Amino acid sequence: MENIQAGTSDIESIVRSDDLANLVVTFKSGQRAFLGAEKLRLACKCAHCLRARIDGRFPEAFPGIAIVDLGQMGYGLNIAFSDGHTRGIYPLGYIVALLEP
Ligand SMILES: [Zn+2]
Repeated sequence: MENIQAGTSDIESIVRSDDLANLVVTFKSGQRAFLGAEKLRLACKCAHCLRARIDGRFPEAFPGIAIVDLGQMGYGLNIAFSDGHTRGIYPLGYIVALLEP
């Protein structure tokens, strides 16, 4: 992947890939970046997942996980995953940060 030197104001759109395995972030420059569903699921910062990490019961992997729904919230995205987890809110700044290699 090319180096992404961008901020949230440079984002043109964010959609799901056709196979539901990635977020596709398109920047106003025309540059495109992909963010895998598993990486996103592992990075969830909702209260439920934070608690699970503290308790040591947060999974280390989510093989085959898909993005089943995407809610556009202005400042970020509400992502629903195929494991039934729908609480994750991903602010745009966090999404850009996750794009870093
Ligand atoms: Zn979560």
